[in-house]
Amino acid sequence: MIVQEDDAGASPSAPRAHAEAFRYTLAVIRDIQARTLLSRVDEIDMWFGLDFGMNLYRGCQHHCIYCDSRSACYGNDRFDEDICVKRNAIDVLREELRRKRKKGVVGTGSMNDPYMPAEADERLTQRALELLAEYGFGVHVITKSTLVLRDVSLLQKVARRSTAAVSLTITTLDDELARIVEPGAPPPSDRLRALRELADAGIEARVALMPVLPFLEDSWDAVRCLVERAHSAGVQAIVASFGVTMRDRQREYFYARLDENFPGLRRIYQERFGDRYVCAAPEAETLRARFEELCAAHGMRTSVRPLLAPSATELPLLA
Ligand code: SF4
Repeated sequence: MIVQEDDAGASPSAPRAHAEAFRYTLAVIRDIQARTLLSRVDEIDMWFGLDFGMNLYRGCQHHCIYCDSRSACYGNDRFDEDICVKRNAIDVLREELRRKRKKGVVGTGSMNDPYMPAEADERLTQRALELLAEYGFGVHVITKSTLVLRDVSLLQKVARRSTAAVSLTITTLDDELARIVEPGAPPPSDRLRALRELADAGIEARVALMPVLPFLEDSWDAVRCLVERAHSAGVQAIVASFGVTMRDRQREYFYARLDENFPGLRRIYQERFGDRYVCAAPEAETLRARFEELCAAHGMRTSVRPLLAPSATELPLLA
């Protein structure tokens, strides 16, 4: 049985075997139907300068221990267990793009990773890029996966009529630490190589340095090294947030993983942050100042601007 999706909360069914090639997943793949695909970003998008958001999947196989998409407000209490494929997504997207009077930049990657392992077989992101190129829309992809390199020629095609940018999220350069905090994603060393290939292909390559986990990823040496390596890889912009946000189920999951991997760290978080949503790194302001200075020295932007609206204001980011 395939169920209709309501974007406020789908109840998927019909599990089907996922590809054996998945490197890491606890999840089963299920089909759902989408009613809509594009959501308009009404305010200026202060993170990535987008006009529309798009999610082709629900759930994510990267299982990052800090992921905000586990929060109760998103209505997905099986975020890590069920990967839902919006089986009719391409038909819905084509119809929505056809009816839009004004073109814009479509962002994907905020609620799940559009290049999670399932994408290797499902190819929803790939087919969505084909449509964006056909209809003259721009794209901004956020991912942790090198699978994005499969679609370089499509990104170039999008860029010929509009704009295309890819942000690889890197929160640490330490592959061992990343294996714990982002257990389903390719190691950051591979992500850096992907950035180099994207930049060499003429695609705007960015780093999303967020979150920066307090007491784990927030040393100046770690941040400095990341900026230097990103610069060497041809990255043009880094957007950073020196801390993490935490809510309800997301916090419970995160603390459980801290208990497994970093005994004692939960208590430090609880004492310092309590129930607060914004959990800034203790030295966030200093990190921000030094980060800005170093990026400026390398000619890398640290804030975003709407990709198709040159007059729009650049906005500084959190922390
Ligand atoms: S890749 Fe992004 S969406 Fe997926 S689990 Fe990690 S933080 Fe969440």
